Amino acid sequence: MIKLFLVIPCYKEQEVLPETSARLKRKMQQMIEQNRISPASRVVFVNDGSTDKTWEMIQELHKEDRLFSGIDLSRNRGHQNALLAGLMTVKDIADVTISMDADLQDDIDAIDQMLDQYFNGCDIVYGVRSKRQTDTFFKRFTAESFYHLMRWLGADIVFNHADYRLMSQRALQGLSQFKEVNLFLRGLVPLVGYRSGIVTYERHERFAGESKYPLKKMLAFAVEGITALSTRPIRFISQLGVGIFLFSIFMLLYFLLRYFTGNTVTGWASIAVSVWAIGGLQLLAIGVIGEYIGKIYLESKSRPRYIIEQFLHEEG
Ligand code: UDP
Ligand code: MG
Repeated sequence: MIKLFLVIPCYKEQEVLPETSARLKRKMQQMIEQNRISPASRVVFVNDGSTDKTWEMIQELHKEDRLFSGIDLSRNRGHQNALLAGLMTVKDIADVTISMDADLQDDIDAIDQMLDQYFNGCDIVYGVRSKRQTDTFFKRFTAESFYHLMRWLGADIVFNHADYRLMSQRALQGLSQFKEVNLFLRGLVPLVGYRSGIVTYERHERFAGESKYPLKKMLAFAVEGITALSTRPIRFISQLGVGIFLFSIFMLLYFLLRYFTGNTVTGWASIAVSVWAIGGLQLLAIGVIGEYIGKIYLESKSRPRYIIEQFLHEEG
């Protein structure tokens, strides 16, 4: 029987943990009774340097029931790094992992279909949101535009898929060979390859606590995703440069023509405007290039992506 590990990053989730752990326990017990998964399956909470009672609660859960394991990171490293820490820690003991958020916005009954697809030979199964009715219009709009933009920029990502996903052991072994520090898992996983499938589900609202992804973090995450996966923005800059250069030659010819026909330029407006426009474009271009150089800088240092302080786990 397969050992299923659920991997759940938690950052200041003390309001949701009691309910989340109870619901997951029920779900796991059900599957164990149906002989779908082995009794050695686990729910692994990764504490991402929370400053509240999250880690104490995870320790407590582990003590009461060995179904629950815990990983404590040495400090807050962000959702993506925390998730990776969890996956990499269990990649040699789990046959299958499913990652999800602590707030259970993702329907846990989709696990059944994910497992079906795994038994049918898929190594990766993506959870995809069917509707976004529970999200605010703003979140829905920004998120969907983001997926379109990513696709257009040439990144291979699954539409409306966040980090609710099943991965087999060998898919995780594949993922472990990607060493990048600028982590954007949902863009990286498709690069691992293997047969993959999709399960759609409805996304609920957070039942307690508040979102740890305010607008500022969401924007940073979007920029991270684009620059980590695509170098197309750099190419656009060069194309833009060529375009503007061609345009300036055309303007030169135009002004020469005016000069020789006796109509010398009278206004300064056109000059002033173009100086500003080109200055602005140059700054933008330098900014985009700087974004990539910053990435290279961080990658070249190859700092650890996370440090594990403690791993509470009981085999068997
Ligand atoms: N999270 C984390 N580290 C952080 C921020 C968030 O591990 O620095 C976790 C959080 O505990 C949750 C998941 O990432 O399990 C998604 O966060 P949230 O539900 O707040 O995001 P939203 O659903 O609003 O996009
Ligand atoms: Mg959430």
